[in-house]
Amino acid sequence: MKILVVGGGGREHALCWKLSLNPKVERILCAPGNGGTAQIGENFPIKDDDIPALVALARDEEVDLVVVGPELPLVLGLENALRQEGIPCFGPSAYAANLEGSKAFSKNVMHDAGVPTAAFRVFDEYDAAVAFIKKQGAPIVVKADGLAAGKGVIVATTEEEALEAVENMMVKKAFGSAGDRVVIEETLAGEEASFLAFCDGLHYALLPSSQDHKAVFEGDTGPNTGGMGAYSPAPILPKEKYEETAELCIKPILRHLASKGEPFKGVLYAGLIYTADGPSVLEYNVRFGDPECQPLLMRLETDLLEIMFACIDGKLDQVDVTSTAQTACGVVMAAEGYPGDYPKGMPVTGLDAADAMEGVKVFQAGTVFADGEILTAGGRVLCVTALGDGLADAQKRAYEAVEKVHFDKSYYRRDIADKGLKRLK
Ligand code: ATP
Repeated sequence: MKILVVGGGGREHALCWKLSLNPKVERILCAPGNGGTAQIGENFPIKDDDIPALVALARDEEVDLVVVGPELPLVLGLENALRQEGIPCFGPSAYAANLEGSKAFSKNVMHDAGVPTAAFRVFDEYDAAVAFIKKQGAPIVVKADGLAAGKGVIVATTEEEALEAVENMMVKKAFGSAGDRVVIEETLAGEEASFLAFCDGLHYALLPSSQDHKAVFEGDTGPNTGGMGAYSPAPILPKEKYEETAELCIKPILRHLASKGEPFKGVLYAGLIYTADGPSVLEYNVRFGDPECQPLLMRLETDLLEIMFACIDGKLDQVDVTSTAQTACGVVMAAEGYPGDYPKGMPVTGLDAADAMEGVKVFQAGTVFADGEILTAGGRVLCVTALGDGLADAQKRAYEAVEKVHFDKSYYRRDIADKGLKRLK
């Protein structure tokens, strides 16, 4: 069997690795891929937004399955285009991907489906948005409607900050057309967790809870990044609460989209916040999170290929999706300066020594494989992920493995999973 994985981050390296464990998989193609995926399969230099080129690659190479890592190709209709060609694709249709592609769409679906979420209003007119902010005052959250690479959300603590955010989005067009429409919502306070489920349109299979670390510096300070580390399970969302949480935030969405004739197939990711009144959904993503994907796939026991085809075929109820009882912790090693400017081209050493540790995998992200060497090529360079017996053990083992990996000007947070450990105490 031939599989094309779309994307080039740590998530995609983890997807390639997990899929390669199935003996039926003969060949893995990755577009554009990275240094890690190059060592599992073949990379093709096609960007994830080039839908015609991705479809042509899948057709020409006669792949049996396309697995889409990032949100952009899904929002741009890659699944629809592949379906037209009769090529199976793991990931939702463009309509269903709007859950992530448009915050206004997503909030309206949450409202219609009865999912708990912050009170909100949608604005297409700058003046009306300004008037609303002046009436509500701060704190208040301003969100660009469309995709903005994780930068389109401003949690404003002052009215001035909120007004500046709206001006940047709607007048100065800081995010292009993604900011033509804005969602303005109530500020919620609490600890966040990620809750992901495989979905086949009707049925779902839950993955264990996980928690990302968005801020670049320790203690959740500094600017937001793509994610500096993750672990699973997250003590804030224990196993006993999975089913009732799914009833709250997964099931109603599947039902709602199915009733529109647009069933959701793929991974549905609910970004939750635990307020004093209980869990509330901050956002949906329509794919695995990066870096949550890495610890989650380390724990997944069921064959990923089987799950993906069951999602596509609407037969997920026939698969028993299980994860190991062990805990997994992933620490992202970044290039110093990220998420701002950072150097590239530094040789990475020690990968084999870290990978040789029992229950450890190094998932590469911003790397290239050139002349037998792995060089850094991005801000988030890799995610060192370890399994352990409990959170403290997984964390200890992850940092032991991190110590074995070296590149010039590396930076990582030393407090990944501390929040979970604090809660366990
Ligand atoms: P990403 O793609 O990076 O996950 P995003 O651009 O899709 O982010 P959200 O996840 O909706 O945006 O918001 C980003 C972060 O902003 C959240 O993780 C949360 O910390 C904060 N946030 C969003 N909405 C609210 C809210 N209503 N109250 C408080 N904080 C919020």
